[in-house]
Amino acid sequence: MKEMLQQAKQEHYGVGQFNINGLSWVHAILDAAQEEEAPVIVAASDRLIDFLGGYRTVVAMVSTLVEEKNIQVPVALHLDHGKTVDNCLRAIDAGFTSVMFDGSHGPIEDNIRDTRKVTAYATAYAVSVEAEVGTVGGMEDGLIGGIQYADLNECIRVVEETGIDALAAALGSVHGKYAGEPKLGFDEMDAISRAVGIPLVLHGASGIPKHQLDRAIKLGHAKVNINTECVTAWSLQLRNTLAADLETTEPRKILTPARDAIRETVRAKIREFGSSRKAVSLKK
Ligand SMILES: [Zn+2]
Repeated sequence: MKEMLQQAKQEHYGVGQFNINGLSWVHAILDAAQEEEAPVIVAASDRLIDFLGGYRTVVAMVSTLVEEKNIQVPVALHLDHGKTVDNCLRAIDAGFTSVMFDGSHGPIEDNIRDTRKVTAYATAYAVSVEAEVGTVGGMEDGLIGGIQYADLNECIRVVEETGIDALAAALGSVHGKYAGEPKLGFDEMDAISRAVGIPLVLHGASGIPKHQLDRAIKLGHAKVNINTECVTAWSLQLRNTLAADLETTEPRKILTPARDAIRETVRAKIREFGSSRKAVSLKK
């Protein structure tokens, strides 16, 4: 993931992170990235790991499908919102190529201490690490929280003292749906991006209008996380399919349009982030 994000930051585009909820999601995301010739980050949320069948199942599902579908674009497999140091280490052992440790809810000293444990372990396996400072609004780790802006000095400390590859600096974005136009702290974003130097990560990017996304990418965001727009497209299509044919019991007929809806959503986001056809200059 590190190489993907460094190139994206240099060339001012965003690499999409798309969260999975099962095998059909992996199909949809990989197909979209291949069609757009875009580097892509497939993510599993730590809170869904049991639902998905465990870290090793997720790795097997993604890596095998990349082979079976002959996917030629760079694919990173990322643990989203890793809840504990131990969970991040287990994900690395299972074969994730990137992990996020989310210590943003505790004191900064604990966040730095624990993130360091993850980077120390990840470095030995050439795995990328993302950390978070401040609090993203809406649901995070299953907790509903308010927005707390990332503090500039805490951002600098986390980057310098832990050696992370990407920083999620919370600046007004929200997981889930926005009530009205999102209010992102662009001045703070500019200052943090200049001070830390490494690529920034935008959580809760679903529903942020394109002009704000463009500005966030210009100001150093290289990773853009999308979940809500995919689950919305999937569930809407599923409802429509079932309502249109009350007799059908054929899973393939019911689930394929929903999978297609995810794929089209991912393609549209990739185009919006400017990462179409950026796979060619990155090696797999
Ligand atoms: Zn997030």
